[in-house]
Amino acid sequence: MELNAILAYQDVDKQLFNLEKDLAKNPYKLKCNALNQTAKDSQVKSSQLEEQAGSILSEMEELKKTISSTKKHGEELLKKDVTKLSADEISENLATKDKVLQNLSLLDKRLTKLAESINQVLAEFNKTIKNYNEAKAQYQKYKAAYDEVAKQQQPKIDALKGQLQNLAKTVPQETMEIYNKKRADKIFPVFVEVMGNNCGRCRMELSASALSKLKSEHILTCENCRSIIYSK
Ligand SMILES: [Zn+2]
Repeated sequence: MELNAILAYQDVDKQLFNLEKDLAKNPYKLKCNALNQTAKDSQVKSSQLEEQAGSILSEMEELKKTISSTKKHGEELLKKDVTKLSADEISENLATKDKVLQNLSLLDKRLTKLAESINQVLAEFNKTIKNYNEAKAQYQKYKAAYDEVAKQQQPKIDALKGQLQNLAKTVPQETMEIYNKKRADKIFPVFVEVMGNNCGRCRMELSASALSKLKSEHILTCENCRSIIYSK
């Protein structure tokens, strides 16, 4: 593979790669990424809370129905004319009434608990929405600051891209395609000279078979960092 053209291309592309790397690591950009994540997390959380609130509300509805039918049962017991009942029936009636009252008290407690939970969920929901709105507002602020930085770099980026376009014309198409694919995967430098017996990028030591392949073909993909190692 004739490498001079692509190496000249890579030299210029290095400046572009570094510019892009600096922009990606810009503190405003990092803050934007973090705020974006916060906003996304808040959205997920708020829909989870909504779901939770929905299921608590339906449990409360069910519970209210049970309470009202239990009360009805209790009232029916009270309506019975005790003068027409045997002693056994009266004591049975009293036991049932006690049971109903006990059940009612348990059901009431459960209802109070659910009411507390729904209040908690709603409070958390409001907090989550507030976090979301705050993150959105902050994001706009940092995004504007980052855009300003990016705008300042744009002429340099455009000039480098123009240079690269011209240089690309001298590179065989197949080589350019391999290069662009690696470059898109952030493997940079794409082509790297062997350093003794090591990869010139990640410094991994090459095996004997890799070295003999490099000797015969003058080119080899690093198994560790995926850069293309060449030897002159
Ligand atoms: Zn490597």
